[in-house]
Amino acid sequence: MARRSHNTEPRAVSDSNMESVDSARTRGAATAAADWEQTFNAVSDPMALLTLDYRVVRANAAYVAWMHTTRGRCEGYACFVLGERHEGPCAHCPLPQTVETGRPGFVRQVRMQPEGSAGVLVPHIYESWTYPVFGEDGRVERVVEIIKDVTERERLQQVTSEAQALREADQLKAELLGTVSHELRSPLASIKGYAATLLKHERRLSADERHEFLQAIVEASDRLESVIDRMLEMSQLETGSMQLDSSPVDLERLGREAVRAAERRAVRAYPDQFTFTVESQFAPSQRDAAGNQDAADHHSDHLGDSRGEGPLVAVLGDARRLRSLLDDLLENAVKYSPSGGKIAVILRPYERATDVAERHTDGANDAAGRAPTPLVEVQVRDTGIGIPPDQLSRVFDRFHRVDTRLTRESEGLGLGLAIAKRIVELHGGSIWAENVAEGGSSFHVVLPLAPIEAEEGAGLR
Ligand code: ADP
Repeated sequence: MARRSHNTEPRAVSDSNMESVDSARTRGAATAAADWEQTFNAVSDPMALLTLDYRVVRANAAYVAWMHTTRGRCEGYACFVLGERHEGPCAHCPLPQTVETGRPGFVRQVRMQPEGSAGVLVPHIYESWTYPVFGEDGRVERVVEIIKDVTERERLQQVTSEAQALREADQLKAELLGTVSHELRSPLASIKGYAATLLKHERRLSADERHEFLQAIVEASDRLESVIDRMLEMSQLETGSMQLDSSPVDLERLGREAVRAAERRAVRAYPDQFTFTVESQFAPSQRDAAGNQDAADHHSDHLGDSRGEGPLVAVLGDARRLRSLLDDLLENAVKYSPSGGKIAVILRPYERATDVAERHTDGANDAAGRAPTPLVEVQVRDTGIGIPPDQLSRVFDRFHRVDTRLTRESEGLGLGLAIAKRIVELHGGSIWAENVAEGGSSFHVVLPLAPIEAEEGAGLR
């Protein structure tokens, strides 16, 4: 029980006329008690002085009313009996804690209260606070309970936070409109410009020039189409209407194809500026753990198609969506890396921290005796501008773009990673971003491996 140091002030007592001092004191004490009583009753919050075993010593008028009782049937009774909980104190009553620690405590409760002339019952939120009263020996001797109706304060807080959320939503809408209109406007402006020039100067333009202009129109239309597709895809993911077309997918092959395509695009747009590599760290034993039956070989750092005799690193998923996920990560790696960038895709078995711990005990089986599903990690690493640490998780938010010169200069809706995250989650996996110590960033996608038999693997996507 809490103890508090206690100072005893020396009292100056005149011995000249003890009798009159005593009677003055008695009168004074009576007046003080009356004043105290008045003050106590003037407090509009219910307030009571309680013994350590919850009995009411004194209660103000508001407390008596709050307990729906009379003063005569209030003082001397345990507060929980007055509250008609005959079995004992309320759950989470702060009184024992205040007695133990000597510090105030509180509990929240909701009570239906009649409101208005019709007396409609409305939920009110109350906080019951307990404050310690220390005795001469510094121990908690009594407890003051004050009940505060915080309904109005809560309503105000809620209104304020709703207003804040609305302001943020408005700001988001404004930013979104800005981004979307820019991303729609710039290809549209190209289409319009090239088409108008073709119309106006058709005869003066050479065949090569006409071809170039038509090519630009096609590219801008593709861009426009992809912006619209992105927005539709996001909306399908948000409304939960996207269906996965699932089948076993050979992830190594998918990774190699995505890297080859990214390399072709990069060579066209920025000749000789980027180097691409693919690495698979699947060792034979780990491939077998995934249920894949073929013989294994470890291969890395080349783009040749090593498929054929090698075993399969397969997941059950939507090949088209997984491919476009890899395409997006690779496109970002190029987009956010200066010239000379090195882009690597690494596939490897992913170990959960718990798997490692479990292996020391019972051989990695779960509570039901099943081995946990093996996981594959696909890493897309670059040597680019990296991501500020506080933005590493925010880059997966819709329309979020890190504000850097390179981002501002590059086209983008800020939807690619938001879509990637939802697609990965639909496949039962997870995705996150990290910065690489040597510079650049790495995106990690972890997916559950599917057990594939050799003959099943023959026709895999
Ligand atoms: P977009 O590229 O269209 O802006 P994304 O959703 O793909 O949208 O990416 C969101 C933001 O994350 C980008 O604007 C960029 O700021 C940051 N980002 C994504 N990938 C990388 C990367 N590889 N390196 C650095 N920053 C990146």
